[in-house]
Amino acid sequence: MAEFSLTELVPDVFAAFGGVCNRGIIAAEGSVVVIDSGISPAEALPLREAAQQKTASGNIILFNTHEHLDHTFGNEVFQQDTIIAQAAVRNVLATNGAKQLADIKQNPQMAEKIGDIHITLPNVVFDQQLTLFAGPTEIQLIRVGPAHSQGDAIAWLPQQRILFAGDMLFNTLVPAMPPGGNSLQWIHSLTYIESLGAEHVIPGHGPIEPPEALGALKNWLKTARSRVAALLDTGADRETVLAQVGAAMQTDFPRGAENRMPMAIGQIYADIVRERSAS
Ligand SMILES: [Zn+2]
Repeated sequence: MAEFSLTELVPDVFAAFGGVCNRGIIAAEGSVVVIDSGISPAEALPLREAAQQKTASGNIILFNTHEHLDHTFGNEVFQQDTIIAQAAVRNVLATNGAKQLADIKQNPQMAEKIGDIHITLPNVVFDQQLTLFAGPTEIQLIRVGPAHSQGDAIAWLPQQRILFAGDMLFNTLVPAMPPGGNSLQWIHSLTYIESLGAEHVIPGHGPIEPPEALGALKNWLKTARSRVAALLDTGADRETVLAQVGAAMQTDFPRGAENRMPMAIGQIYADIVRERSAS
């Protein structure tokens, strides 16, 4: 595991690196808000210690950007704190968290990495939006899912123009698209997120991105969707769609993470088939 480290983006706002996902700390005048806990208690521990050092009262608020295990399975370390998320995050973890844990533990390396955990649910949930303050710093939690997952929400700091994007943004153009998301809503949400005018964007994984990365991912999703739709119009079957669109996307957007391609195109295929059967 990489070493835990904090990067101060502007005074009081830190990106936390060294975990499977990127995390954050916003601390001002003794109040602290933490963005995402990590994949395990071991990963969450140095993050909470760093947060605790920044609060006079000991009050810590954790925000989960979405329900995926690499962002929430460290929640246990924050169990005496307030844990906030969009409502679907709690629902999905409550109904499906144990299965996620059992599935990931099939992989011996991951089982060792995660260790023994108690799935710890958010204890405050919101529907569309909730605003927090760390001292004078405003932190808007805004629902943008279902997109990458069911419960996606961003943390937007309008004064600092900093966006914690969760997995709405990836450091490669091929996004992780496990079941539960929605590629069409993802495109709509990226348009909304672009309109915020962020200067610093912290993606869920990988290095800090320029704001233009939001438009690049939107373009990728739009192109993949139109290619899948065009092939569906010709009556192509799922296997053909995955192979042909996967190859075309790799040629036109050659930027790594090709291993994610079948899942991404498969999710887009399922989305478009569902949209067509509903209309
Ligand atoms: Zn995720």
